[in-house]
Amino acid sequence: MEQTNGVILESKPLPDLGAVICKNCGNVMFTLPTNGVKTIYGVCKDNCQPNEGE
Ligand SMILES: [Zn+2]
Repeated sequence: MEQTNGVILESKPLPDLGAVICKNCGNVMFTLPTNGVKTIYGVCKDNCQPNEGE
């Protein structure tokens, strides 16, 4: 009987739990596959202005 070492390799992709959010306007720029929910702040474009109502 053949046995492996009990190692199960799963190439299961991580769910996209990480969100990159623009710290200026609050847009979700893109999501990332991360191990757990993470929020990463960036800037979606140069000179992005905060999206505040007038
Ligand atoms: Zn922005």
